[in-house]
Amino acid sequence: MGRVSANPPTTAWDFDAELRGIDAAQLRRRRRVVDAYDGTRLRIDGREMSCFCSNDYLGLAQHPALVDAAREAAARWGVGATASPLVCGHSRAHDELERELADFVGMPRALYFYAGFPANTGLVPALATRGDAVFSDALNHACLIDGARLSRADLQVYAHADAADLERRLRASPARRKLIVTDAVFSMDGDIAPLPELLQLAERHDAMLLIDDAHGFGVLGPHGAGSAAAFGLRSPRLLYMATLGKAAGVAGAFVAGAESAIEFLMQRARSYIFATAAPALVAEVLRASLRVIAEESWRRERLRELISMVREQARLPAGWRLGESSTPVQPLLIGGNDAALRAMQALWDQGLWVPAIRPPTVPAGSARLRLSLSAAHAPGDLRRLLDAIAGLRPHDPAP
Ligand SMILES: *Cc1c(COP(=O)(O)O)cnc(C)c1O
Repeated sequence: MGRVSANPPTTAWDFDAELRGIDAAQLRRRRRVVDAYDGTRLRIDGREMSCFCSNDYLGLAQHPALVDAAREAAARWGVGATASPLVCGHSRAHDELERELADFVGMPRALYFYAGFPANTGLVPALATRGDAVFSDALNHACLIDGARLSRADLQVYAHADAADLERRLRASPARRKLIVTDAVFSMDGDIAPLPELLQLAERHDAMLLIDDAHGFGVLGPHGAGSAAAFGLRSPRLLYMATLGKAAGVAGAFVAGAESAIEFLMQRARSYIFATAAPALVAEVLRASLRVIAEESWRRERLRELISMVREQARLPAGWRLGESSTPVQPLLIGGNDAALRAMQALWDQGLWVPAIRPPTVPAGSARLRLSLSAAHAPGDLRRLLDAIAGLRPHDPAP
């Protein structure tokens, strides 16, 4: 045994006890080391796994055109942006990318962030502060919640996708500025927020609507322009945020909206101002990605085909059900943490990687398998998964 160092007899920092608590609740998370990626196949511990866990919905993360763009951009720009965007980190590549992103989603201007999480924790506090109110869907992503907390505004959590509950709260709020924030496609459920109703409410109550389209950009709407475009929404009250590490296959995020709103956010979003810009090479690869997203529409068609296969052909063990979703995020609702983990393990043993999602990521009692589909899947890959799911028992014994 190794050396045991003496801890003080009592301490507020008993990490071992904390970890035992996490284990007891079956909430310990572990990382798997991936040795190689090849589309939807991953090599782990020498085994090839078929992956239904990535957010690479269009299968672009290893696309040859993007890989070539990265090589050329590295030769031209090197690898580091060297500074924050407001100092000298904003290259011609970033500038062109922002113009192309704005055009892509049909909005006047866009601002590119190095990642989605800090985008939202910067945007929400820039838009709302003490004396204001943030109205947040109950199933919003953690970064919108943290952004709302950082803002110090009054936080009003409305029932999931419930425009009537939101309206009651908007009407009752005395706040000066009202900001509505919502995932467009909910990340763990795959359902779509009632965006037209939310925008109407924003207009009626002098509010702004910030939507996070991390799972809709590239997938929904004409040429993959996203959820707002899918509904044909246009309004100076709409701020459209999306991430670029999912369907776009690269990294980063952006917010798009009216010219003056975006200029204001550039002045005020602290995570934009005080962080090193993403490398210019990432911006160049994203430009290549936007071209592929628009041109290779067969990828969205393949996704639609796979989604229909799940909806129409899945046969589930008793007591399990598929959540309502028409997007590549297909939740297989199981309930208990233990049952979800066992189902994940049983699939893993058959070479299929489908993650179990447990609280606090989802509400207690709603543990699930989160199937995510990719245009890189062949229908036969999905067939194999659906057959394996049909063969599971609701409470597979622990291995
Ligand atoms: C993944 C995700 C983010 C975070 O984006 P990153 O670029 O991964 O930091 C934000 N919002 C939602 C809804 C997400 O699913």
